[in-house]
Amino acid sequence: MTDETEADLTGVEPPRRPRAELGKIAGRKLKPATMMMGHGYDPVLSEGSLKPPIFLTSTFVFPSAAAGKRHFEGVTGKRPGGAEGLVYSRFNGPNQEILEDRLSVWEEAEDALAFSSGMSAIATLFLAMVGPGDTIVHSGPLYAATETLIAKLLGKYGVKWLDFPAGATRAEIDAVMEKAKAQGKVALIYLESPANPTNALVDIEAVAASRDAIFGEDKPPIAIDNTFLGPLWQQPLRHGADIVVYSLTKYAGGHSDLVAGGVLGSAAHINTIRSTRNTIGTICDPNTAWMLLRSLETLELRMSRAGENAAKVCAFLDQHPKVERVGYLGFLEAQGDARQADIYRRHCLGAGSTFSLFLKGGEAESFAFLDALKIAKLAVSLGGTETLASHPAGMTHLSVPEERKKALGITDNLVRISIGVEDADDLVADFDQALNAI
Ligand SMILES: *Cc1c(COP(=O)(O)O)cnc(C)c1O
Repeated sequence: MTDETEADLTGVEPPRRPRAELGKIAGRKLKPATMMMGHGYDPVLSEGSLKPPIFLTSTFVFPSAAAGKRHFEGVTGKRPGGAEGLVYSRFNGPNQEILEDRLSVWEEAEDALAFSSGMSAIATLFLAMVGPGDTIVHSGPLYAATETLIAKLLGKYGVKWLDFPAGATRAEIDAVMEKAKAQGKVALIYLESPANPTNALVDIEAVAASRDAIFGEDKPPIAIDNTFLGPLWQQPLRHGADIVVYSLTKYAGGHSDLVAGGVLGSAAHINTIRSTRNTIGTICDPNTAWMLLRSLETLELRMSRAGENAAKVCAFLDQHPKVERVGYLGFLEAQGDARQADIYRRHCLGAGSTFSLFLKGGEAESFAFLDALKIAKLAVSLGGTETLASHPAGMTHLSVPEERKKALGITDNLVRISIGVEDADDLVADFDQALNAI
């Protein structure tokens, strides 16, 4: 095909949604909460439908053979930036693309990708970035399935790893980076902050400074799982991270009714990850993408309300005689944890609404409390409109060896709570009666 032939076909291209909308009105830069209602979608393209239709199709009709070739050049990575047209639903689709545009907005990321789960996002990131013999340097603890993915699955293919504890200082991080560098190529630095289930924060700025000092020009990217505080309360791209990972199942989805993941970052990194996603098909489906578009419209409302509720509930729990300690980011300063409080001040815009409650007692007391809750539901997961409570030692972290549990502070008197958007006083009354039932 020649360029002249392609130029002749412009009149028959199907209209495309507005991808590079700037989000400005009369010079005013619009806020994410405003942009969630319309960014990346033009009703004119769908018979005036206010909301985007759900595009249930496996494939898309090319306007011409030349256009098909051009689109495949984008899909296969011959030309960076992804396909400029719609091709096949393993690669892209209107709902997923609108979602990706809107996900980018919150953190002013250059680009974003949607995935079928948080874990499929993380696995695709690793497959795209890491090869046999490479080392992943990571913070610890990580979400249990991420630890399994690195140590067990990638380990099978000769990938090595080294970790440092979440609160590590610059000197401690430097020591681990030096050790990793000495054993070969460091392909990726992977963080999770706050860490699950301890809420320990990672000093992203110190990690970036250490990486820059130790690796110079040939530096590995820094990726971070920002599921617990993002995108409202922590924006790691502003603190030196290159790639941000989400379980969109949690706060972004926010209604405990879907499973999905996201990755944001620079166009170059996203292009690399997109090629891997195109190959293995870890994109989310159109219905899930549509549900997430609905969820993002209320993301700020939900996270703000849940954050206010958590502050009230934690203030109540903190002074209750049956409570030993509340592991809530808003209390770091008051509890005298200078290192964590310093990281919090520099990185976080709010304390979020997922925290740890340490009761006086052990498993029996924790179970009595959990069984007595009436409004809060006994379930794992977090970030939904409803308040959830669970027992990490006996549930999500049951398989973690006793020694490691001890080192991480996952004790039998630890109850994990994710606060929802209910009435705060009703929640306080529920926690009060459940504590009194112990
Ligand atoms: C839930 C979660 C994940 C995994 O996400 P899924 O959507 O369940 O695959 C990863 N990281 C963190 C911090 C999580 O809370």
